[in-house]
Amino acid sequence: MSDDPIDRSGLSPRFWEDKRLDEMSGAEWEALCDGCGKCCLNKLEDEDTGEVALTRVACRLFDDATCRCASYDTRHAFVPECIVLSPKTIPDHAYWLPSTCAYRLLWEGRPLPDWHPLLTGTPDSVHRAGVSVRGQTVSEVTLDEDEWEDHIIDEPV
Ligand code: SF4
Ligand code: SF4
Repeated sequence: MSDDPIDRSGLSPRFWEDKRLDEMSGAEWEALCDGCGKCCLNKLEDEDTGEVALTRVACRLFDDATCRCASYDTRHAFVPECIVLSPKTIPDHAYWLPSTCAYRLLWEGRPLPDWHPLLTGTPDSVHRAGVSVRGQTVSEVTLDEDEWEDHIIDEPV
């Protein structure tokens, strides 16, 4: 797993089946992220209905080639609104998180999909399964916000 930017080494096998989200260590929590990149896409939320539409317009720090944040550790200096997911904040965010997001799935009491890197041993499996947004985004720095609605997409699942 040397090409995996997330360190998933040394974790107990299937720890996510034995522990609640709030019982996990920091390393276990970080290892849950599958690297799909879908949470880094801008969403359009209808204020009246609460409906959320996904766009392919990515955050300015999103690297479309690697499908990762280009500056994860220092991201809040550039994108202060980037959320910090935690067991405490998940209830507030679950409604807009991608349907395949591991944090959302576990919070809903559902299993991880068989393409998850924790099960396959490689971060490539998320791309091979067609559930990531690698190579499919346009950066928000290239568009005006009123153009986002022209880039609404269905979530790749
Ligand atoms: S949607 Fe969830 S699993 Fe996918 S990159 Fe974001 S936090 Fe990680
Ligand atoms: S700052 Fe990084 S982690 Fe946050 S939305 Fe942007 S690309 Fe994603």
